[in-house]
Amino acid sequence: MKKAATKKYNRRLRIICCDYINPQKDNKSSLQRNGAIVLTPVGKSQFKILDLGPVEKMFKKHGQKEVEVMDFSTQLVIPTFFDMHFHWVQDAVRLMPKDSLLEWLSKYTWPYEAKFKDKKYASDKAKLFARELVRVGTLGGACYSSLHAHSTDLAMKEFVGDFIVGNVLMDMNSPDYLTHSTKEGLKSVETLAKKYKERYALTPRFAPTTSPELMKAGASVARKNKSFIQTHLSETKNEIDYVLSIYKKLKGFEKVKSYTEIYEKTDILSSKTIMGHGIYLSDSELKTLAKTKTAIAHCPTSNAPVKELGLGSGLFDFNKTEKFKIRWALGSDIGGGPFLSMFDVMKSFVQQNKKKKNGATYEKALYRATLAGAEILNLDKEAGNLNVGKWANFLVLPAPKIKKDETTESVLKLLLEDKKQQRTDLDFLVEHTFYKGELFYSKV
Ligand SMILES: [Zn+2]
Repeated sequence: MKKAATKKYNRRLRIICCDYINPQKDNKSSLQRNGAIVLTPVGKSQFKILDLGPVEKMFKKHGQKEVEVMDFSTQLVIPTFFDMHFHWVQDAVRLMPKDSLLEWLSKYTWPYEAKFKDKKYASDKAKLFARELVRVGTLGGACYSSLHAHSTDLAMKEFVGDFIVGNVLMDMNSPDYLTHSTKEGLKSVETLAKKYKERYALTPRFAPTTSPELMKAGASVARKNKSFIQTHLSETKNEIDYVLSIYKKLKGFEKVKSYTEIYEKTDILSSKTIMGHGIYLSDSELKTLAKTKTAIAHCPTSNAPVKELGLGSGLFDFNKTEKFKIRWALGSDIGGGPFLSMFDVMKSFVQQNKKKKNGATYEKALYRATLAGAEILNLDKEAGNLNVGKWANFLVLPAPKIKKDETTESVLKLLLEDKKQQRTDLDFLVEHTFYKGELFYSKV
């Protein structure tokens, strides 16, 4: 069978000549100037990575066969991004006034999400958002849709890459125009989890708007279908007070001491759970997250001060999170975060931590924006970096000029800290986006 397939397509090896950075860990990556990535065809039009290294070595090893050469030798290649927390239905509220999280939600975000009830409107928006994702180089991650089941269907259909998606569940403390009954919410979970299995994410919006009954029953459906679970946790102090004031009045929750305990009691913490934010967590809450192997999506541009277009939620303590051995990765949190590019997220992460000298480097940010996300989604054997055997998912970028003693850190710094650069420019930094070796975007 294999031979027949090869013969039928008569596919050649492809050699990509380029500089590249291949992230491995927080403080480990390889930077190769004058390098080459060798791709091998799989099926009709896709490619996996066969080899990579210095260009001369790669041609010596593979160049004697019939090969197709793609010359990006003046450019820099990195793996495509995983954005581990974003709301595709909040594109239009990214730049709305963000004086407080709860006000921003009720004043701008919820009325906007209600528009996605209209299937035609939602379908047009999904097509546009899918194009934006490939333009910024995000080809994987964890996505929230509106509460309408079709908004999850549309994201699944239109987005290129490896995403988990879920419809937000809102069966209490929600506005009349954006709510469903517990029964309706559960029905949507049953249908979508069965349909998409591990690509689906049970998505309670957050504890105030999703009843414990719905979370608990949803968690059981998610487990049965090997689906993921995602929600928000401890983003702001006001939110925590609000959550506890609600739950202390609910039967069985009268004695809860923390936000995390609520999620523990509703069975949604697990190795397939991703909590957005987690800024204000006590040691005992961190212990609970570690024990249940729950991961965190950290969204620096959303948490950033209001003057930097964020919600001013606070600074995530990644060192403490790591001390508790909790897995975490970066997310844009569109629309809490103002821009979709993970370059903007990486830069904000580095800049906000600069004064602390706590190890927030660009090298770390790149790992947390790529492979760390793939690891949380259990996709690291096939995606997340440029290692041999993985799908050829990569971005072509302008390469900063060679400087003496350069490292991954200095190259990324040159790329992202150009003085003439505006924040919005980072949304347009990618020159080509490849998914499984196929070209999906080119900047003209
Ligand atoms: Zn969010």
